[in-house]
Amino acid sequence: MPFTPARTLVTGASSGIGAAFARALAARGSDLVLVARREDRLHALADELRSRYGVVAEVVPADLSRSGIGPELRERTGPVDMLVNNAGFATHGPLAEGDAARLEEEIDLDVRALVSLTRAYLPDQIAAGRGAVVNIASTASFQPIPGMAVYGAAKAFVRSFTEAVWHEARPHGVKVLSLSPGSTRTEFFDVVGTTAAAVGRFHTPEDVVETGMRALDARRTPPGVVSGRANAMTAAMTRFLPRRMLIGLSGRLVSA
Ligand code: NAP
Repeated sequence: MPFTPARTLVTGASSGIGAAFARALAARGSDLVLVARREDRLHALADELRSRYGVVAEVVPADLSRSGIGPELRERTGPVDMLVNNAGFATHGPLAEGDAARLEEEIDLDVRALVSLTRAYLPDQIAAGRGAVVNIASTASFQPIPGMAVYGAAKAFVRSFTEAVWHEARPHGVKVLSLSPGSTRTEFFDVVGTTAAAVGRFHTPEDVVETGMRALDARRTPPGVVSGRANAMTAAMTRFLPRRMLIGLSGRLVSA
């Protein structure tokens, strides 16, 4: 059965995977609440969604790395049937040389905002007895990554957190899913500042969204899904490698 929420909030909708999610959901008839910092991009997407799909598309410009963002946004938007926690970015380079403020911002956005938004919107869905939360993790979540220590740990948090909440929400009829893309052709690597962090074949944002929507369409939505067959196999293999070998290998793969 196609999962068809009436109203979906997508964070990081101004580009990449977030914009692709917004288009896919509008195509299913969902109204959209589009959140990111670049307001002009959000308005352009909202206009496109209204004219192509006839849905209601609201633009809510916000910097999600601020403390207290979940309750603040929930107050502004009201409840939504589906939440896509997609906004995120990565940093690259040895921790001891990293920009300390930027590393904190990475945790604020990739971890704190995601928890704050999930906490803020989930109770409405539980009360309604239906809904969905999709949290974008990464194949980076499956092993520690020397050279991207904060990003790997942040995404491991996202996956662990999401799987636990999947279990809590399931008896209430709410689907909670962690979606782990591998290298995807978006603005992500422009923000990182290097493609050294890219591992494996590049996929499109549409491929990633299709994997996520297929998992939501399933009657028994799993706690997590990896996008791309090769990515899923590599992620599964990390369980069997000795830890030293795994860490060394992942560090070599992303080093410039
Ligand atoms: P992207 O094209 O760079 O998109 C990132 C989105 O996050 C943008 O819409 C950006 O919008 C938003 N954002 C960044 N900082 C924000 C802030 N402080 N407040 C609000 N919004 C903010 O990258 P993407 O690949 O689509 O990334 C989407 C998600 O996929 C991320 O969580 C990323 O970690 C994950 N991921 C990506 C890849 C990949 O290879 N691309 C692989 C695995 C996982 P504004 O700049 O307008 O605010």
